[in-house]
Amino acid sequence: MTDLSHLRADFPILHQQVCGHPLVYFDNAATSQKPRQVIDALVHYYEHDNANVHRGLHELSNRSTANFEAVRKKVARFIGAEHEEEIIFTRGSTEGINLVAQAWSAQHLKAGDVVVITGMEHHSDIVSWQLAVERCGATLKHVPVLDDGTLDISVLDSLLATEPVKMLACVHISNSLGTINPVKEICAKARARGVATLIDGAQAVGHVPVNVRDIGCDFYVFSGHKMCAPTGIGGLYGRLETLNSMQPWHGGGEMIETVTLERSTYKAAPHRFEAGTPDIAGVIGLGAAIDYLESVGLENIQAHGRELTLYAMEKLNALPGLRLLGPPAPADRASLAGFTLACAHPHDLVEFANTQGLALRGGHHCTQPLMKRFKAPGTTRASFYFYNTQAEVDRMIDILNQAIAFFS
Ligand code: PMP
Repeated sequence: MTDLSHLRADFPILHQQVCGHPLVYFDNAATSQKPRQVIDALVHYYEHDNANVHRGLHELSNRSTANFEAVRKKVARFIGAEHEEEIIFTRGSTEGINLVAQAWSAQHLKAGDVVVITGMEHHSDIVSWQLAVERCGATLKHVPVLDDGTLDISVLDSLLATEPVKMLACVHISNSLGTINPVKEICAKARARGVATLIDGAQAVGHVPVNVRDIGCDFYVFSGHKMCAPTGIGGLYGRLETLNSMQPWHGGGEMIETVTLERSTYKAAPHRFEAGTPDIAGVIGLGAAIDYLESVGLENIQAHGRELTLYAMEKLNALPGLRLLGPPAPADRASLAGFTLACAHPHDLVEFANTQGLALRGGHHCTQPLMKRFKAPGTTRASFYFYNTQAEVDRMIDILNQAIAFFS
């Protein structure tokens, strides 16, 4: 197995006891831990460079602006965007999706149009598009999920062929099933019909190599906090000409060319969509996280995740009364395992695990329609990152065996 356990030394938070046991942190799909390098970058920023960005003519503001804009360039390179102007800093995936659902829809969506999502979307992608279609009288349709946790692509084909679809929004990696969707193929189908695409990469960026140009999407969103950066910072990629065809969604400082009391003119992307003082420290932290992940290597992170998931799936499948959701083959899934246990509700199981120092997550994971689809009250989810080890999976299996004995 790809051994990255030496990297645990970079994560101060991992070295603690919880309820008298060494912490096993398997809640990475909710948020990842932060390495010392990212924490240090935040402290350094506040101790040396803190000043508001743009328009400042003094040394600290110039420095802060240069560092801030350098991260935009870094993000563009990291996810394969052609131009740094195609990267808009957001609070995270949710804000990026809302930006598109509001600002793109205002220009491009009208009554009678159809937006297509999938049955495995996170609530952020479902609710934002529900709000968007309700505003203009468009309709929301979805691509169902098959029993093996993959999308029913034949339904996508027929929706694209028969409905006036304007937007297709699809999750890259499902946070509940772990399914890695064939987003390149999906975007090609949409593009062939002139349909715009938004890919939710919350579980993908920082976990698998991502190249937005190769995927061929119009928009792509991600959250920094799931890839070693602080909470409150993330990114939206949009094709430059598409971004500049959209009106601003928030008004304020930083996004204007000129303002009179009657009307204003706006800057081009990305600043047109970044009203007000941004999360400067968050952006600095995001840059440090990208440096860190690149030093580890995305291929190594992906390989480790795949191997650890394969190991965990084999062990989990051997437990009595356990039902694992999502694709059966680890090659088709990301490094998480969502499951039900016949003898215990996910919340009870997660509380039991916590008494042993094991951090799992139980519930609907912001995918209520998906839980309904699989007739599950919720699932227990173990989600891994590169600093997790095989020994920690063994510890989880040991705790689950104890739980089965306790609840049965
Ligand atoms: N999409 C997916 C697939 C996610 O897993 C999440 C986070 N759970 C989000 C969107 C929303 O991300 P955030 O809360 O960081 O905005």
